[in-house]
Amino acid sequence: MLSTRSLRTADCRASAVARPRMAIGRGRFQVLCASNAKFFVGGNWKCNGSVANVRKLVDELNSGSVPRGVDIICAPPFIYIDYVMQHLDKEKYQLAAQNCWISGNGAYTGEVSAEQLQDFGVPWVILGHSERRSLCGENNEVVAKKTAHALAAGLGVIACVGETLDQRNSGSMFQILNAQMQALVDEVKDWSKVVIAYEPVWAIGTGVVATPEQAQEVHAYLRKFCQSKLGTSIADKLRIIYGGSVNDANCKELSFQEDIDGFLVGGASLKGSSFVTICNAAGPKAKY
Ligand code: PEP
Repeated sequence: MLSTRSLRTADCRASAVARPRMAIGRGRFQVLCASNAKFFVGGNWKCNGSVANVRKLVDELNSGSVPRGVDIICAPPFIYIDYVMQHLDKEKYQLAAQNCWISGNGAYTGEVSAEQLQDFGVPWVILGHSERRSLCGENNEVVAKKTAHALAAGLGVIACVGETLDQRNSGSMFQILNAQMQALVDEVKDWSKVVIAYEPVWAIGTGVVATPEQAQEVHAYLRKFCQSKLGTSIADKLRIIYGGSVNDANCKELSFQEDIDGFLVGGASLKGSSFVTICNAAGPKAKY
């Protein structure tokens, strides 16, 4: 399926008024850069780590060389955010939380609000991760309302969508993705601080990564969905990142896909050198 970007590029070629578009590389690995969006790599540390591990990971990340032209976000567990904020190199990395509450401060035992994250200087939050959907019962509406609230509080949101293997195999994948995306479209007013993470549930933590073609197909579909609901300008700028068993060995080929604007990384984000390699997979998609 051709994405909005592909379609427009084809149109532009025909009318000889093509927007600048780079084709870099040789043979089948041509990197097509039709967007001005900055490549985005998030590391989701999940509920992992200890004081000692987090110290080690921060040291490894700080000693790594990562491109300035990539937005790189690390999402430690809440309890380590303060330490990471104090010690992680701010010139290279930004911080995200892995969740936040659906509304403001109040009598919500055990929760952390978007306002508190904003107050503490955490600029991003991951919402709608499949583990929160399946383990904590967060449905599309909850994820969308959380997203809208977090954006209103001034955070950027990495909003996760994706299908299970059963849904893919039974042919309901696009229906599921439509419902997840439509809920967001219904609630979100300003898309400038939203990143969509396409994370097929069957690829998360399984070692079974989507093929570049599978990922590109869905990314192009999601962009087309956004184009039809939000318009070309928003859809073109929207970062759609891929998550699910991305590692230092498979990231490069995935990054060559036209509609893949970055990655959300779980397991491989816990190893500094692997995460740094993944950040460098941006190649010419880094924007300076
Ligand atoms: C994730 O949990 O967001 C994720 C992509 O995990 P992993 O990279 O381990 O599959």
